[in-house]
Amino acid sequence: MTTVDKLEESLYLKLREVSESPDLEVKLLLCYVLNCTKEELVLLSSKEIPTAVENKALELVKKRLLGYPIDYIIGYRYFYNDKFYVSPDTLIPRPETELLVDLALTEINSYPPSKKNISILEIGTGTGCISISIASQLVSKHYSENREITFIATDISENALHIAKKNLNHLINDQSNTPFNFIHADIYTPFNKEENGLLSKQRYDLIVSNPPYIPSSRLKDLPSLVQHEPEIALDGGKDGNSLIKRIVEEVWPYTKNNSAFILEIYEESENSLRELLNEYSKNYNFHYKFLPDLTGRIRFLTLHRTK
Ligand code: GLN
Repeated sequence: MTTVDKLEESLYLKLREVSESPDLEVKLLLCYVLNCTKEELVLLSSKEIPTAVENKALELVKKRLLGYPIDYIIGYRYFYNDKFYVSPDTLIPRPETELLVDLALTEINSYPPSKKNISILEIGTGTGCISISIASQLVSKHYSENREITFIATDISENALHIAKKNLNHLINDQSNTPFNFIHADIYTPFNKEENGLLSKQRYDLIVSNPPYIPSSRLKDLPSLVQHEPEIALDGGKDGNSLIKRIVEEVWPYTKNNSAFILEIYEESENSLRELLNEYSKNYNFHYKFLPDLTGRIRFLTLHRTK
């Protein structure tokens, strides 16, 4: 039998080989196997660890050494202010995507106070982290009081929707002013035809999405951690833009005047997207902006419908 601090030290030495933050990952892993918080872990440090628990930790570290992400091992990841369940059916939420939530909140806060009904569509919701974080902020800042903010979130993966629903129910207790509908759909075409009716009546104020945007030919060059994430959530087709194109074209008929799209994009796609937007400007009325993430890389496209 060994003690918690000794195991922590030996796991650290192993994880150092593969992880950029071995210290954090070891703590997450030990909290997971010991079923305790980080604060409790400190108090346990000189305690003996049961052999079965030690073996479990060693087995999980083996998986991690093979490149499997820690987030899938422990089953969650923090995003914005909350803890989100993740699974190999969902993309792991990234810190840069938190800015998409901020952009959406800025957009919503710019609406006149008289606007009492707001409808938001998210395409490819995954864990639900974008929509749920928006809703959670609107609830906690009391913005949703006396308003109805409706969310429709689609995903092509039913398993991902299952995780998103679990996250919603665990993170937002009172959903009365922020009702959610999760729909199994390919972009905006539901697999269950009965849901066509629900979707075809909607008109949206805001569309948010972090769609798959990696060009297919680049998938094999992604870091090994990303290789374990669902390809369907990453593969953006030949130039990386095929899902973005589909979102704009398929959802545009369901947008209101003055509505906005806020999309996460591939940093290298700016020029090809500019060409596409020039094309679109012949048929659609909008203005657009490219915005960087906190590392200064172009990461978002916002598009405001003007008519
Ligand atoms: N941000 C992810 C990455 O760089 C890609 C996510 C996506 O395709 N939407 O690996």
